[in-house]
Amino acid sequence: MDNENICSVCGKPLSRYGNRKLKDGAVCRNCIKPASEWLDDSDYERMSVADFVRHLDYRKENEEKVNSFEPDKTIEGKYTLYLSSTGKDFLFSKRKDYKKSNPDVIAFDDITEINIFEEKYLDTDDVDICFNVKLNNDQIDNIYFRVNEFPGLVRDSKEHQEAIDLAMKYLEGFENEEDMDFEQTEGE
Ligand SMILES: [Zn+2]
Repeated sequence: MDNENICSVCGKPLSRYGNRKLKDGAVCRNCIKPASEWLDDSDYERMSVADFVRHLDYRKENEEKVNSFEPDKTIEGKYTLYLSSTGKDFLFSKRKDYKKSNPDVIAFDDITEINIFEEKYLDTDDVDICFNVKLNNDQIDNIYFRVNEFPGLVRDSKEHQEAIDLAMKYLEGFENEEDMDFEQTEGE
């Protein structure tokens, strides 16, 4: 079997779907599972096999951070934001039992910018409300997600307003933490 068809991390054959290309190799669906959900296509394409192995090590270390994480404020949504003023860090999780999904615990100090976007669809007038936290972090440089649960909101509908309100609540949650010093912009 030639190298193009095996996972550069575990050496097993790649499956037809769910693999990711790395800068100098490819990684299989199974090896991707423990990776951060905040990595996007361009992150993978930029990473070497060695970078990805380091990322998996980081993810193991993150498990310990999750276990000692002590949130004192939560803002519930599709993603719930957990803020810890004692640890001066935060995480976003889709799960109520956030410990099970090993969400990345990020220091407030790593935040460089927070943005709320309205993303418009090309073929309709529908929009999504998106939340974006830019980071200066070794492993994750961007947290980006759709705030509304179901894609495609009608502008000025109840759901549209609810998504904006939730995004603003996230933002206020961050702003209310001490020592927060980051650039804040709002845009479309
Ligand atoms: Zn693999």
